[in-house]
Amino acid sequence: MHDILPDSTPLWRHVENTLVRVIQSYGYSEIRLPVVEKTELFARSIGEYTDIVAKEMYTFPDRNGEQLTLRPEGTAGCVRAGLEHGLFHNQTQKLWYMGPMFRHERPQKGRQRQFHQVGIEAFGLPGPDIDAEMIILCGRLWRELGLSGIKLELNTLGTPEARGKYRDILVDYLDENRGELDEDSQQRLHSNPLRVLDSKNPDMQTLITGAPSIQDHLDSESAEHFAELRTLLDTAKIDYIVNPRLVRGLDYYGKTVFEWTTDHLGAQGTICAGGRFDNLVEYFGGKPVPAIGCAMGMERLTELLDRDTQQPDDSPHAYFILAGDEAVANGFAIAESLRDEIPGLRLRVNHGGGSFKAQFKRADKSGAILALILGQDELANQTVGLKSLREQSEQETVPVAKLPAILKKHLEGHLNLR
Ligand code: ATP
Ligand code: MG
Repeated sequence: MHDILPDSTPLWRHVENTLVRVIQSYGYSEIRLPVVEKTELFARSIGEYTDIVAKEMYTFPDRNGEQLTLRPEGTAGCVRAGLEHGLFHNQTQKLWYMGPMFRHERPQKGRQRQFHQVGIEAFGLPGPDIDAEMIILCGRLWRELGLSGIKLELNTLGTPEARGKYRDILVDYLDENRGELDEDSQQRLHSNPLRVLDSKNPDMQTLITGAPSIQDHLDSESAEHFAELRTLLDTAKIDYIVNPRLVRGLDYYGKTVFEWTTDHLGAQGTICAGGRFDNLVEYFGGKPVPAIGCAMGMERLTELLDRDTQQPDDSPHAYFILAGDEAVANGFAIAESLRDEIPGLRLRVNHGGGSFKAQFKRADKSGAILALILGQDELANQTVGLKSLREQSEQETVPVAKLPAILKKHLEGHLNLR
């Protein structure tokens, strides 16, 4: 579990703000959900034989002996909340959420035990129009973040009936090649055979490539749904690869599944993944509500941006040098009026006194663009000194009354960065 330190939080906020702005522009509303839920909720929805439930959940009894789990993903909680509050009753819902998720994975690059997702879920819409829009939305996210070379992989898992038939065909194939299955896959062979296709073990790849394809075993309903989705994406000029081995790790998916990947993050290259889960709401005791959703990993997105974009930062715009007790008292008042009059201004005031020289040093170190100076002379004349910390220039003397306007001018182009 990682701390996110002040030198990276500006980038995080930039990514979060961009995601939220774009997601809301498609008519999604925010939902905030608890970080802890009953264990049973995840065990039932995600599926007992998935990696998440079988080995990754942080589960503990609370003081009443109730089994609780730190949420490993957001969809289950979203469905629970929607049912509890009647959000799916005769209406559609487009929801988004953001926050920490917890999985006890082997820590490695691109895999944390506390990580952060932004998720979107659309309920009550059978698609494939909403499926296409969700994918188009993701495409816009990558563009607005300035990310390029993000690839889309697409598949369908069919209706439950089609998937059931395909499952048997796949089990037969895997059974015939039992000798080539690694230990994990042997275990999944009967519990969750589709997951074998998701194995990242290089030794298994030949077997996986040779496996029968679900694309050849679709029923007409899911084949049509998929064909229509493809037409919508083609019309929207969205590039994608149909990957018949894309199955996703969670049990609740059916029909559309998709993943966005990059080559720039090494082995953990998936930045966003999702799919349709038309049976989940009903499974939890509601009326049938078709649904689709996806989630993106904040750590992977920020890492990608970190590589090739200019970093936003939270350094102050100006550092206020105050020489003497009288300057401190007056300086606070001036600083307040500057904050009143210049929206977005980041002004750091010197604390703890110190010589001009010492204060200038601190000003430099703060990363500020400008130093404001209030000493005896300035106090006597109702002025403030203003000096650039970035370029060679003479110190200006500015009447206090004119300071907001002049400071604004100096900071043009810096104030509304975010
Ligand atoms: P993988 O096959 O890589 O384990 P997954 O199927 O478990 O992925 P999802 O549950 O679909 O992943 O999560 C959606 C996204 O959340 C992933 O694409 C990834 O960007 C991010 N994510 C998932 N697990 C982690 C983790 N442990 N650390 C960081 N990001 C993660
Ligand atoms: Mg995983």
